[in-house]
Amino acid sequence: MKERDIRNMRPESLMMSHGYNPEWSEGAIKCPIFQTSTFVFKTAEEGKRFFEVAYGLRDKEPEEEMGLIYSRLNNPDLEILENRLCLWDGAEEALVFESGMSAISTMLLAHLNPGDIVLHSDPLYGGTDHFMNNVLTRFGINSFGVASWDDMDAVRAKIEEHGADKLKMIYIETPANPTNHLFDIEAYAELAKEYSTTDRKVLVAVDNTYMGPIWQHPLKAGADLVLYSATKYIGGHSDLIAGACLGSTEVMTPIRGMRTFMGSMAGPWTGWLLMRSLETLKVRMDQQARNAEKVADYLRDHPKVDKVHYLGHLTEADGEQYKIYKKQYTSGGAMLAFTVKGGEPEAFRFLNALNLVHLAVSLGSTESLAEHPATMTHADVDPVLKERMGINGSLVRLSVGVEYHEDLIADLAQALEKV
Ligand SMILES: *Cc1c(COP(=O)(O)O)cnc(C)c1O
Repeated sequence: MKERDIRNMRPESLMMSHGYNPEWSEGAIKCPIFQTSTFVFKTAEEGKRFFEVAYGLRDKEPEEEMGLIYSRLNNPDLEILENRLCLWDGAEEALVFESGMSAISTMLLAHLNPGDIVLHSDPLYGGTDHFMNNVLTRFGINSFGVASWDDMDAVRAKIEEHGADKLKMIYIETPANPTNHLFDIEAYAELAKEYSTTDRKVLVAVDNTYMGPIWQHPLKAGADLVLYSATKYIGGHSDLIAGACLGSTEVMTPIRGMRTFMGSMAGPWTGWLLMRSLETLKVRMDQQARNAEKVADYLRDHPKVDKVHYLGHLTEADGEQYKIYKKQYTSGGAMLAFTVKGGEPEAFRFLNALNLVHLAVSLGSTESLAEHPATMTHADVDPVLKERMGINGSLVRLSVGVEYHEDLIADLAQALEKV
């Protein structure tokens, strides 16, 4: 398709065809699974040229087509998928990984050096928290957290306390999991500029798993990197594990190199499944958001429910959080959390009584999923931090799926009756 046509079209129109030509594969309308480890060079000279570019020995000529070498470096299923992922976030480059954690850890290892410091939002996804606090620390890379209620002066004070001249990255998860607290990406991008020097640029990376790539676009708000657990909405069917990282060519080049040498790329079968998932991404997420609104409204009015954390319920009375919501999101999303009156026993009675909604961790799938953050996804988080963030015994997290909303509400109703 011509460049001009692509610019005029919405990503959802291009997910079925962009980047693939049926003539490459006997007219097959769908991109086949290139289940191959290696690719045959036409000549030795060609092989030499491909390696020169792949290993960065020289820059690619403007008209030069990059050839396929070996599936740890590149594979058609990954390349086409990566081109399609770029459209949603308006990124120059995307890289797909075997898991969200491998996307995150490969990105961190590519951009951080001993002595660097990372500022991150609290609470972090458990795996990311563990990697920062137990792995990066062994290499002399330390981090510290900020809360959604810290204003920029409080954040600056923390940066000074930890060493402003060592700050290398601001790593944000917004909305925070599971409480839906929001962080202002634009404000953190400004802060990164303030602390950048000519020889040390402070990078802003955003984990967009909760709201992307449809309802939040971190690169457009000034972030340098956006990360996904593609296991969640992008995959969307609870049948694969994958991750992605996107950004400009400049920031992605070191990550591409690190992926090659860590070997953390996704395989062709996972790439193919993700391309299939992308075709329905928009319709799935739109339906999930519509369902979530109805479910959240129902829970808000239920006598056995104390508090519902759902972005669509924010109002002007919520001050700064509401302002961030209005400027940074195009939907209330489909993730919510709520407290059942009582504590852990009441929350467990509710979870054990669910029928249609499955009791499982993960999120963003076609089926609705419920879990207990305090004892499951966030079991490992420091107890003091957990309490401060409101991750207590009565909190339940709900990922709303594509089922018929009245069936979902009926299931929640009968489970709440058991409490
Ligand atoms: C699941 C998740 C991850 C980790 O992704 P995996 O695909 O499980 O490795 C990272 N961040 C967030 C916000 C997640 O929900």
